[in-house]
Amino acid sequence: MKTITKEYDLIVVGAGTAGCACAIHAAKKDLNVAIVERKENKNIGDKVCGDLIDYRMIDWINKYLKLKYPKKGTINKRMNLMETYSPDKRSILKTEFNCAMINRHKFGQALIDDAIKVGCKLYDSSICKEPVIKDNFISGIKIKDAKTGSVSTLRSKIVVDASGAVPALRKKIKLKDSFFESNIDKKDEAFSYREIRKLAKPLKDSETSKIFISSEYADGGYYWYFPEKEDVMNIGIGVGRHLDTSSMKENLLKIVADDPIFKDSKVLHAGGGMLPARKHLDSLVANGFMCAGDSASQINPMSGGGIAQSMMGGYMCANVAADAIKKGNVSEHGLWQLNLLYADRTGREDMGFNNAMFDGGSQAASDLLKIFTQNQSDKNLNFAMKNFIESSMLSKMSMGNASTMPFLKKMKILAKSITNLPLLMKFNRILYLMGKVKSLYNIYPETPDAFPEWKKRLDAIYEETYKVSGLINKV
Ligand SMILES: Cc1cc2nc3c(=O)[nH]c(=O)nc-3n(C[C@H](O)[C@H](O)[C@H](O)COP(=O)(O)OP(=O)(O)OC[C@H]3O[C@@H](n4cnc5c(N)ncnc54)[C@H](O)[C@@H]3O)c2cc1C
Repeated sequence: MKTITKEYDLIVVGAGTAGCACAIHAAKKDLNVAIVERKENKNIGDKVCGDLIDYRMIDWINKYLKLKYPKKGTINKRMNLMETYSPDKRSILKTEFNCAMINRHKFGQALIDDAIKVGCKLYDSSICKEPVIKDNFISGIKIKDAKTGSVSTLRSKIVVDASGAVPALRKKIKLKDSFFESNIDKKDEAFSYREIRKLAKPLKDSETSKIFISSEYADGGYYWYFPEKEDVMNIGIGVGRHLDTSSMKENLLKIVADDPIFKDSKVLHAGGGMLPARKHLDSLVANGFMCAGDSASQINPMSGGGIAQSMMGGYMCANVAADAIKKGNVSEHGLWQLNLLYADRTGREDMGFNNAMFDGGSQAASDLLKIFTQNQSDKNLNFAMKNFIESSMLSKMSMGNASTMPFLKKMKILAKSITNLPLLMKFNRILYLMGKVKSLYNIYPETPDAFPEWKKRLDAIYEETYKVSGLINKV
């Protein structure tokens, strides 16, 4: 067993979308960056995914990472419409959505190529095993070469854990007097299963992505049809409460058997994965350490979409790291700015995130909505989608924006919902709590010492949400 030691400004663990965005931006800010990735270089980016992105993310990459995207072969298809179906399929909410299906593998390859081009050192086939802790600071990591088994130590001023939904480091970061959230609750771990199927006949409509809300198949989550091409469909089930990937697979096979578009279709790629479907970590930083992407739970809890958020999270880490290293303060206090940036508290004006992606406050609001909707019966969801949730509201709500509407409209809804007023009232309360939680993130504490008080207020909003959703005795 050979031990070598190397020194960097920044070590990024994981060459996914979070890790690559972080590494590229950090290298462009003149940091000396190492990326540690357990996969072999040629397999980076090959991931089970719905492959759907908001197209504004591509514009953001061009403008803020200053790279020319989309690169050849990275986009399979562009679409402009999303349909969301109620469980009984009688209500269909249509929203305009400028989105694209990416070729996940090629997209990941393009990003890692760019990271190497801007000077990052890639340790591929290298498994990050544990953090190196010195004087209550993370000062590096231990890595194992997947091919030879040799172990080395890499040292750095800051380590970023961008290693995805089952993080290499996050759970092992237990520093004295730190507010870093190292563990997330099991109930927030949602699973997902998806297949890419080659269809026997081209689709009649390959221009629309479809979401089907369903307790029957998705246990409080949904299943999706995202066309990759005219005769290729990305179909999956996600964000349910209790289903594991094997029961999701069983359910997906039932959906496929019941829908004639899949007759004689062939599976091209299949697999499952885990998603941290919740608010992002209450604090993303510790001494010498930051988290980005799935490892930081930076994901839309309603949809499970996290590619854009992960790139945003990685980019923010690079900004904060460069600044902290320049100032010579990489302590939790010195890196605290990351919490403010992600919460949308301050300093993100020049990062292009205001339209294209969403902030921590919106993510928490979306989490409250998820908690509520996951615990409604199909009957209630059918009623709500028929009587008081409209297309224009839906897209805003799923991005964590509580919707307000004119008085007359409210009256009309009230009249339509008279047979289920308790549901309407609960729904209204959730919209109110969504607004409240967003406002709370707008006053995310500027320094760590004010964090415990802020956290108490956050917990109180969650507690009320559980109560309104009928879950209070189960948490
Ligand atoms: C089934 C499914 C469907 C999804 N569909 C969509 C979708 O349609 N649209 C969307 O926006 N999002 C979707 N998501 C979510 C999205 O894929 C993630 O939010 C996003 O990939 C997070 O990026 P990341 O860089 O944080 O993590 P990842 O992309 O998972 O990257 C983490 C990297 O770290 C590496 N790694 C892990 N452990 C170690 C270790 N010990 N040492 C070294 N390297 C390590 C991994 O190999 C990987 O390359 C989906 C997720 C799932 C599971």
